[in-house]
Amino acid sequence: MKTIGLLGGMSWESTVSYYRALNEGVKAALGGLHSARVAMLSVDFAEIEALQHQGRWDDTAELLGEAARRVEAGGADFLVLATNTMHRVAPSIEASVGIPLLHIADATAKRLREDGIRHVGLLGTRFTMEQAFYKDRLTERFGIEVLVPEADERDSVHRVIYEELCLGRIESASRAEYLAIIEGLRRRGTEAVILGCTEIALLVGQADTEVPLYDTTALHAASAVAAALSD
Ligand code: GLU
Repeated sequence: MKTIGLLGGMSWESTVSYYRALNEGVKAALGGLHSARVAMLSVDFAEIEALQHQGRWDDTAELLGEAARRVEAGGADFLVLATNTMHRVAPSIEASVGIPLLHIADATAKRLREDGIRHVGLLGTRFTMEQAFYKDRLTERFGIEVLVPEADERDSVHRVIYEELCLGRIESASRAEYLAIIEGLRRRGTEAVILGCTEIALLVGQADTEVPLYDTTALHAASAVAAALSD
């Protein structure tokens, strides 16, 4: 089994989900007392969040590049960056290490393609919904058309992520708001919705809606398990 390099803490609320999913995935595949080999480094999210909102992406890249080097030195065979947003600087992180990075958008897009989905809605931070790094990858590499919520809805999705979910607050009013936004995306023609922020599955799940949901945390972790168990 390969060692999964987990770069987490963004936020730790979702890194917990990753850690559980990695271990459950390996246990499901190998049985008994088997668990995932993980080299993990968890950053202080307050530093990252401040740099994000100041637009200082180069500084986040430097900080996460250094963290990734430590994960590699800890014995990781490949890297899992446990956040959608910080894939904004994935190319720079990849250049900092000698091990491959398993991209979260690729893991998600592969499953969408397997399921024949070509028109998808995207929920995430404003950075993920509005900047090109995520949407363009889905479209250019996988031929998937991406629709995002309206501007006021994007503000609200973003606010709930930083002011509630990353702090471990799960509010039913926010769940209702998210579900209304998901329904709005469906009405605008999307076949499914990507939960493109690793904390969103803490708030909404498939049991809450008939719109097919693609949880990036679960899909990313599943592809990490598959990579760890491959030859
Ligand atoms: N975990 C979130 C994501 O998947 C947001 C926190 C962050 O900005 O990294 O995008």
